[in-house]
Amino acid sequence: MLKFISVPQRMPDKRAATERRHDFDEIYAEFQRERAAEQAARCSQCGVPFCQIHCPLGNNIPDWLRLTAEGRIEEAYELAQATNNLPEICGRICPQDRLCEGNCVIEKGFDAVTIGSVEKYITETAWQSGWVKPRRPLRELAQSVGIVGAGPAGLTAAEELRALGYQVTVYDRYDRMGGLMIYGIPNFKLEKDVVARRTALLAEAGVVYRPNFEVGRDAKLAELRRSHDALLIATGVYKAREAELPGNDLPNAVAAMTYLTASNRKGLGDTVSDFENGMLDAKGKAVVVIGGGDTAMDCVRTAVRQGARSVKCLYRRDRANMPGSMREVKHAEEEGVEFIWLAAPKAFHGVGHIREVQAVRMRLVGNDASGRGAPQEVPGSDFRLPADLVIKALGFDPEDLPRLFDEPGLAVTRWGTLKTDFRSFETSLEGVFAAGDIVRGASLVVWAIRDGRDAAASIHTYLSARAARAVPAAAE
Ligand code: FAD
Ligand code: SF4
Ligand code: SF4
Repeated sequence: MLKFISVPQRMPDKRAATERRHDFDEIYAEFQRERAAEQAARCSQCGVPFCQIHCPLGNNIPDWLRLTAEGRIEEAYELAQATNNLPEICGRICPQDRLCEGNCVIEKGFDAVTIGSVEKYITETAWQSGWVKPRRPLRELAQSVGIVGAGPAGLTAAEELRALGYQVTVYDRYDRMGGLMIYGIPNFKLEKDVVARRTALLAEAGVVYRPNFEVGRDAKLAELRRSHDALLIATGVYKAREAELPGNDLPNAVAAMTYLTASNRKGLGDTVSDFENGMLDAKGKAVVVIGGGDTAMDCVRTAVRQGARSVKCLYRRDRANMPGSMREVKHAEEEGVEFIWLAAPKAFHGVGHIREVQAVRMRLVGNDASGRGAPQEVPGSDFRLPADLVIKALGFDPEDLPRLFDEPGLAVTRWGTLKTDFRSFETSLEGVFAAGDIVRGASLVVWAIRDGRDAAASIHTYLSARAARAVPAAAE
């Protein structure tokens, strides 16, 4: 260990931008065994590991780095999977520069340990070696749990509850399980078979899936409550924030999720009529993406791969104040995306179809409530950009769940997210719990996993107490 002084940081090999612009495959190769051991050995084994403190799952990072450096990969995997239900996915798509690696103490001066890549290496090795097994319960319990939403929060809770012996059914309105890991996040960050492998593992453990089942349309929440002893709502947030600008209703101004879902479906081999008719295909087009978060980064990089003529990203703050990961911005720039910092759209122009985006220069004045620079228009600085396709990536809000679920007693916050007890994850309805983005607002996969684990533990406490109350009653 402690090799950080003599061994420089080396990420796994990244494919050249000229090559990766033309396909949707992941951009990093796997670590080889020697490279993983060498990079893990850079860790200084801190007494107070800031990497672990800043990992939402509290992963035991220094210990699994040490085991990797010693070549004890199976033990490293056992440790890594003990706190994380989807370690190979977090290793790929966590914004490590803002979490574990961004807080690695050797980051200042020596570059952080490549924690995410080692986590991915350990878990991929485990899959290849047959160490990843379905977590079948030791005993079956009669109580059942219904989970609405098969994203990372719902799937994590499903795995944890099934391992405890509960009868678990996961309902999802989509035809495939995985939530945004399937239909939001593009293949070049997370290949879909990596997700499908996990969902199949849960099915092997006995989790039952009900795809194409939309709660609100196919059943009211009240009906599900009668069918199960407890429910978990993990439906994520999907209502796109709107630009509210002149020309916004023209057909070639599309929401980011509409665009990304079509692209992901194409990659999965589905027929998507709006892609086939050219509406959602960026090929040959001048594309303007509005927004500066990770969703915007996924849109610009997807447009490049679809063969767009040009791809520009308009963001109202500067590079230092953007919410997206710096690593993603770097990838996008390498792939030919042009960022127009400190610029915001004012109107979309065209007859029946947008032809130009009118934008204005911004400057940052002081800080806003988020602690970032507050953007302010620079008067008289309007300019125009040609555009055949405008993609709006301005963030997401929750849908109106009490109305959709026909359940007015389901309390929400003023942002529309579900109100839960912060310790128990229980909503205002007894026996109905909630986790993931529908509670936090748009967040990260790693936080959804954390919530799924905590909510499962709380549901177990609730159901155990109910079962304990039922036993004396039955004995009387
Ligand atoms: P979701 O993943 O949204 O899953 C919710 C599920 O509920 C969906 O499958 C949906 O179909 C289902 N559902 C909704 N309503 C109903 C209903 N009425 N009935 C039945 N089913 C229903 N995070 C990262 O950590 N790294 C990234 O690189 C990253 N990139 C992202 C890129 C994009 C484009 C987007 C949009 C998000 C990204 N995120 C990323 C965020 C991350 O995907 C989410 O924070 C995470 O998926 C939230 O998990 P969840 O389980 O709460 O919800
Ligand atoms: Fe880092 Fe994410 Fe892994 Fe935690 S789960 S160690 S934050 S990559
Ligand atoms: Fe190792 Fe960095 Fe974590 Fe310290 S902060 S234990 S050096 S990975």
